Amino acid sequence: MSTPLEQFQHDAAQVAGDGDQRQFLRSSLSGYVTTRRGTQGRFQDYTSARAAAAEIKWNAIENLDKLLPQFADNLEARGVKVHWCRNGDDARKAILGVIHAHGAKSIVKSKCMTTEEIHLNELLENEGFEVVESDLGEFIVQLRGEAPYHFVFPAMHLKRGAINKLFKEKLKSADTDDPEQLTMIAREVLRQKYLDADVGISGANFGVAETGMISITENEGNARLTTAMPKVHIAVMGIEKVIPKLDDLALLLPLLATAGTGQHLTGYNSQLGGPRQAGEVDGPEEMHVVLLDNHRTRLLADQEQRDALRCIRCGACLNVCPIFKNVGGHTYGTTYQGPIGSVITPHLRGLSSWKHLSDSSSLCGACTETCPVQIDLHHHLLRNRRNSAQKQGGVLESLQMRIFSFVMRRPWLYGLGGKLGRIGHVLSRPIQGTKLDPLYKWRATRDFPDPAAKTFKEQWKERRR
Ligand code: SF4
Repeated sequence: MSTPLEQFQHDAAQVAGDGDQRQFLRSSLSGYVTTRRGTQGRFQDYTSARAAAAEIKWNAIENLDKLLPQFADNLEARGVKVHWCRNGDDARKAILGVIHAHGAKSIVKSKCMTTEEIHLNELLENEGFEVVESDLGEFIVQLRGEAPYHFVFPAMHLKRGAINKLFKEKLKSADTDDPEQLTMIAREVLRQKYLDADVGISGANFGVAETGMISITENEGNARLTTAMPKVHIAVMGIEKVIPKLDDLALLLPLLATAGTGQHLTGYNSQLGGPRQAGEVDGPEEMHVVLLDNHRTRLLADQEQRDALRCIRCGACLNVCPIFKNVGGHTYGTTYQGPIGSVITPHLRGLSSWKHLSDSSSLCGACTETCPVQIDLHHHLLRNRRNSAQKQGGVLESLQMRIFSFVMRRPWLYGLGGKLGRIGHVLSRPIQGTKLDPLYKWRATRDFPDPAAKTFKEQWKERRR
């Protein structure tokens, strides 16, 4: 079995070597960035809006110990059963317990990355339940047996032709690459699933402590059906999703939409505060909220990096990240991809196996610049690198750094190294690109241009003469 690092290197080389796929990814992502720039203009002052949102989330994270009990008390007051879960095992047991208690057979789910984190579908399918994802993108990747490619756009790597082929094969649908018709095919299948489902499982974008409501943001209306039609609704949310007040949503909802997809406001925003009450005609008869820690408190305990818990999962940092654009989402091998995934995964799954994600960064800062809640992402990537070097810096790495430091402190040696490198480059021309070339693997996906005829220093000297 390969390690996460080996898997990453293998998959990254494959995706980065596929020019067509890279071009497709780049053009999709740049579309979102352009739309977002247009929508930002609707805020009177986008910079101040980001600062205010960061402040709301910062206060929430700093006061989790008070806000979480307040949130849970308010939920319970309206008949919601709250499950406090330390890890994935606890959450899986709690969810399975509810499903068994109702003798349920079929389950419909709306998009929820927290359930991806605890591999819920796998568990439920192994237990013999029918589980259907109702978000179109999630439905597509589920049919392909894949994980989401991007935590906001799960099927963004697929062109229409591939979806048509998939639907023909799995759903026996008619041949079409018309997006509207493809959507209608999925919709027809899904409508019946809502009617048949015994239990609906959703995530939550925010949990409002003041009112004890969960807030769900989506574009298709599928989460509304998932949470309202089956008799039992289970919402699964990470503990960092709690915010103090209902008023906070007035800023967070438009900011989430603008940053992530470039919309003014996402199509559907629902606030759910409990099961069907006396006199109400619809809604589930029973509602459960699963509050998941799963190492979030480990990140909370880290004073230097806890601000990563402010993340509202808008996906904007993925959309601007040069690494994501080149290696794609599956390469990360994590629930949360891109810069935020690289920052938090070492905290959620362990630094030693996942430090390579922080190493694989250009540190350009585009993620930090775009984050709507001002998380200092690229410095967190650097901090992960530092922590990893302090904990387990290898002998080879330390030797390399010593040599680097030795050379950099001696300009004459640096100059000599440069000259030798240039001579070596010229002499090695006959074997460049062949298997005798020590840089063979490296060159397979990269250009190594010939050095300039004169170094910068030489040119500088000449100009000053
Ligand atoms: S880190 Fe910031 S930009 Fe990235 S997903 Fe989270 S909120 Fe969005």
